[in-house]
Amino acid sequence: MRRRTLLAGSVAVAGVSALAPERAMAAARPDIGVSAYAFPLSAVRLLPSPFTENAARTQSYLLFLDNDRLLHTFRLNAGLPSTATACGGWESPTTELRGHSTGHLLSALAQAYASTGDTAYRVKGEQIVAVLAQCQTRLGNGYLSAFPESFIDRVEARQSVWAPYYTLHKIMAGLLDMHLIAGTAQALTVLLGMAAWVKARNDRLTLAQRQNMLDTEFGGMNEVLTNLYQLTGDPAHLAAAQHFDHAEIFDPLAAGQDNLNNYHANTQIPKVLGAIREFHATGVTRYRDIAVNFWDIVTRHHTYAIGGNSNGEYFKAPDRIASELSDTTAECCNTHNMLKLTRQLFLTDPARADYLDYYEGALYNHILASQDPSSAHGFQCYYVPLRAGGLKTYSNDYNSFVCCHGTGMESNTKYGDTVYFHDGGSTLYVNLFIPSVLTWGAYTIRQETTFPAAGSTRLTVTGAGTFQMRIRIPAWAAGAQIRVNGGAATSPPAGAYASLSRTWVTGDVVDVTLPMTVRREAANDNSTVQAVKFGPLVLAGLFGSSNLSALPVLDPATLTPTSAGSVALQPFYKVHGQRYSVYWSVTGSPLTAHYPFDGSPADVSGNERTATVYGAGYGSGRTGNALALDGSAGYAALPNGILAAATNFTIALWVRLDTVTTWSRLVDFGTGTGAYLFLTPRSSAGTLRFAITTGGSGAEQRIDGPAALTAGAWTHVAVTRNGNLGVLHVNGVAVAQNPALTVGPAALGSTTRNYLGRSQYADPYLDGALDNVRLYARALSAAEVSTLYTSGS
Ligand SMILES: [Zn+2]
Repeated sequence: MRRRTLLAGSVAVAGVSALAPERAMAAARPDIGVSAYAFPLSAVRLLPSPFTENAARTQSYLLFLDNDRLLHTFRLNAGLPSTATACGGWESPTTELRGHSTGHLLSALAQAYASTGDTAYRVKGEQIVAVLAQCQTRLGNGYLSAFPESFIDRVEARQSVWAPYYTLHKIMAGLLDMHLIAGTAQALTVLLGMAAWVKARNDRLTLAQRQNMLDTEFGGMNEVLTNLYQLTGDPAHLAAAQHFDHAEIFDPLAAGQDNLNNYHANTQIPKVLGAIREFHATGVTRYRDIAVNFWDIVTRHHTYAIGGNSNGEYFKAPDRIASELSDTTAECCNTHNMLKLTRQLFLTDPARADYLDYYEGALYNHILASQDPSSAHGFQCYYVPLRAGGLKTYSNDYNSFVCCHGTGMESNTKYGDTVYFHDGGSTLYVNLFIPSVLTWGAYTIRQETTFPAAGSTRLTVTGAGTFQMRIRIPAWAAGAQIRVNGGAATSPPAGAYASLSRTWVTGDVVDVTLPMTVRREAANDNSTVQAVKFGPLVLAGLFGSSNLSALPVLDPATLTPTSAGSVALQPFYKVHGQRYSVYWSVTGSPLTAHYPFDGSPADVSGNERTATVYGAGYGSGRTGNALALDGSAGYAALPNGILAAATNFTIALWVRLDTVTTWSRLVDFGTGTGAYLFLTPRSSAGTLRFAITTGGSGAEQRIDGPAALTAGAWTHVAVTRNGNLGVLHVNGVAVAQNPALTVGPAALGSTTRNYLGRSQYADPYLDGALDNVRLYARALSAAEVSTLYTSGS
């Protein structure tokens, strides 16, 4: 479907009367190189969800704002009278960026109108456009701004000035949105005047002069002018757009090079958004390569777990994540613009499911997470702190007007724009699980879900006909299932689209189940710094009013959705008004493996080091079941190199001996009789013993307990090594130590004979049961060992 048809659809859904008397001009040029298309915002009505709650707050703010205050500096700049109270913050009369918020406001009003059908937003936007038209007429040459044209002289002359074209872009984009989305003809008239001024102003410059000028942030000038070209077909608009192709940024990106280090992030993202639109306008694949390469580089090498990027507004060296956690991480504008870019790339290549996987994560964990729910007006974060102990802070009604306050108005008025797409024919894409109703020609699709509170959604079709429904199965949703009308389930692969082609009738129901599991995502630059995710959600630890000076330590073994740990985790988007940590240090508590032996050899540490059980079964345990060994041939084997990364370590387990046999083994990890470590319940000296050696039995370093273990009772045994100090614990109490334990497990190399209940030598097999065998690549403290004992785990 081309834009002409989309607009017709928009009119039909919103009601013809709503768009009369001003009708949007139809697009002159179809996009090139796209195979999916967006629905107009008016075709999607959101049903109650966290998104409608955010949207309602922003909508309330849009109607609250006083147009005259937002137009005050425009009027003054044009020599028109204004008695309005000046705004503060970045809209103060002396701030060089003044006027940008008025542009954001126009975009937001147009979107709010289309999303709700409430003409109050459109009327308010039209009133602003009318005053802007007066200001433009008064200025006389097409120029329109809240600051004088001398700012443009300064940016051209490379004199100090903030970012004049950045602000002009916001105004131009707002005007285009008022025209395209709200149908305001006067907005296009004003925009055409501005576009002509931009072209004339830049035609005067040499290529070198223009490229030098582009070192100053200019927003998405190339994007808005390309969008205008697609609307008008006037080659002058494309030429003006291409005046803003910034070679210093585009050339390395076209070659796939990551040169982003130390570049201001949100200066670059809109340029690339312009590049993909220039591809859609021209078919020149270099523009597409720039955009695809940039997206791949940013999302894979510069993006935090919440989907945001930048520290102190700047891109850093590739993969610096854990080393760049601060109070000024993840500027919200960047993700607003990354999501706009992601949508355009999806339209370009809708087979790539990873585009919407990123979109979903950033939408929930950054965009939805950055509005203050206690504010009736949707106050907005600028940065989202990702240091430990971070605290979100927000904008306000009239004294902030930071950039992210502006993009926040836009983000929160267009949540319906990416839920569904179509292919121009008979294919429907269901990309996000947001409760909503889509009107698609003769069909209505109603999506009902409490996602992400629950991992499921239901789509109900009204209307009869044949089409293909392509449902995104997120990469995190292994084990997803789809049922049509309650029939047999199909199991589509994760990270791809599931296709349902059928002749639909009214009342057909599609149920999608998306299992959500807890998992950890390591920072690119430090595998021990990790974030916790549940389905698409980042979970943050709640620390109330407690500031933190370092990353909190997380024991992954304690991480379950119902864990009664000392720190509560909750979806990051719900975390407001208290300190939190998104990232954790797992350095201090790397649980290497944990075998509860509750009827299976599974490792429940999350590391999937499943044991293999030979000649043994499961019987009653200390808690649940235990590994039952018969003393003749039964044992379990653990994966190769099970403690190969550990210098310090802990082995902790519960044992109940049926027979006490000298030299039988609780554990014995090694490569044979030359290099090994073991725990025996009774040595020939009549003691519980730990030993480790890289030189056979003659070189064993030992810790002997005061006595052998006894039969018939569950006993907790643990051995730890911290530096050269080895300690043996029985039932939570340290009973013996060796301060000269100079050999650690890493010295054994990648051990291949890692046994529970069996020796490297021809010793007796263990007769008894083992439960909750835990291995750590660090020394647990005495208190931690004691806790394992008292908890029975
Ligand atoms: Zn911003």
